[in-house]
Amino acid sequence: MVDRTIEGKRLRDVMAEHVSTDERTDQSGAAVLVSGASFAGLATAYWLNELGYRVTVIETARELRRGGTPVDVEGQTIDVLTRMGVIDAVRAKALPPRSLEFKNDDDTTLAVMSAQQGADEPRNEQYEIHRDDLLDILFAAIHDVVDIRFGLSITHLENRPDAVTVTFSDDRRDTYALVFGCDGNRSNTRRLAFDGTAQNVVYPLGGYFFIKVAPTTALLPANVSQIYSVAGRTALLNGYDDQTDVALAFRTTAEIDYDYRDRAAQRRMIHESFDGLGWKVPAMLDILDADDDFYFDMLNQVRMPTWSTGRVALVGDAGYCVSPVAGMGGSMAIIGAGTMADALRRNAGDHVAAFDEYERTLRPLVDDVQERAATLGMSMMFPSDDDELAERNRTLSEGTLNL
Ligand SMILES: Cc1cc2nc3c(=O)[nH]c(=O)nc-3n(C[C@H](O)[C@H](O)[C@H](O)COP(=O)(O)OP(=O)(O)OC[C@H]3O[C@@H](n4cnc5c(N)ncnc54)[C@H](O)[C@@H]3O)c2cc1C
Repeated sequence: MVDRTIEGKRLRDVMAEHVSTDERTDQSGAAVLVSGASFAGLATAYWLNELGYRVTVIETARELRRGGTPVDVEGQTIDVLTRMGVIDAVRAKALPPRSLEFKNDDDTTLAVMSAQQGADEPRNEQYEIHRDDLLDILFAAIHDVVDIRFGLSITHLENRPDAVTVTFSDDRRDTYALVFGCDGNRSNTRRLAFDGTAQNVVYPLGGYFFIKVAPTTALLPANVSQIYSVAGRTALLNGYDDQTDVALAFRTTAEIDYDYRDRAAQRRMIHESFDGLGWKVPAMLDILDADDDFYFDMLNQVRMPTWSTGRVALVGDAGYCVSPVAGMGGSMAIIGAGTMADALRRNAGDHVAAFDEYERTLRPLVDDVQERAATLGMSMMFPSDDDELAERNRTLSEGTLNL
């Protein structure tokens, strides 16, 4: 169990050394609300507090939502985490570098992509960190300076020119200068604040995926990822020294109508796609069948025409989910929070200009990452048919794959 009080205070001391005085632009203690306490929400709350806002974070879950595959930390994400003063805590928890092996039916290796190693040169610095460790680090950085309320969500938003009045799930109402929707792919804030436009922003990538973190090390060595594809179906394993990520993805041409609470139906869909396949798939299906504790969803992105409306803005997956295919969801959320902070600081007191700058600065990166994930990422990681698979294997044999 993490002693968050002690760790939080220590991190705060470290942070004070890192934050330059111009980052402490005083926003006169205006009250702001952040919905969602994951990477986007915790990082946004950190920066809003630094800028002098009075920050409340609400999270619908009873505690931080844990689980999931590790997060890549590189490039601009390292800059933001360094400015937050938490990069040393991240480095201390970094996972060993991992290689990615492309496998055949009989477990022979088609190709290997070696991991980029830690920090031989600063510009190549790259880490992987367990999702939960990064959540703990960000939470420790804010929990003693920000009001965090679990088990709460927004039920109504009145987005007026002068302020936003919010009604919560416990029926309380409060008024805020700004509201930040950091509540993920299926953002509640997006749905409530953006009216009709927000209903059509989910961009399907043409597939579904299952993922489970299993407490086994029997399927592959530690610090290795392995991927096995046949037309329209991919099986992926990430090995660690104490657990394994087990993932199965299948391609579809149309959306499937299913009940997200019906685990048996989801299992059936996965079995229909994967029964009879070789490699380590039978063992992976046994893990699927073991219990209901797994993640299953459509592979999708969020592509919005604009990330803010009035005094409400979206950060992270809520506004621009890049999908698990991009492998950059966590990084993008942290970069988004850092970009928002810079924009608010440079446009102190003018949220319209700040939200505009936030979007102008970040959109080219988001567009690029989304496009690469939807095209190259999908065809390389989840080839849809025999032609795409053959092309992927040709790229692998030439050693020119660059994900
Ligand atoms: C439990 C979990 C496991 C994940 N596993 C993976 C994975 O294995 N691979 C992968 O690529 N990505 C995974 N993701 C998504 C990944 O974390 C995001 O792509 C990325 O971190 C972007 O972060 P975010 O903060 O924008 O969104 P998220 O990390 O999705 O966080 C959104 C937060 O908002 C909260 N929230 C949702 N609705 C409300 C509401 N109505 N009111 C208040 N709070 C709300 C959620 O509980 C969550 O804490 C996972 C997300 C979660 C929550």
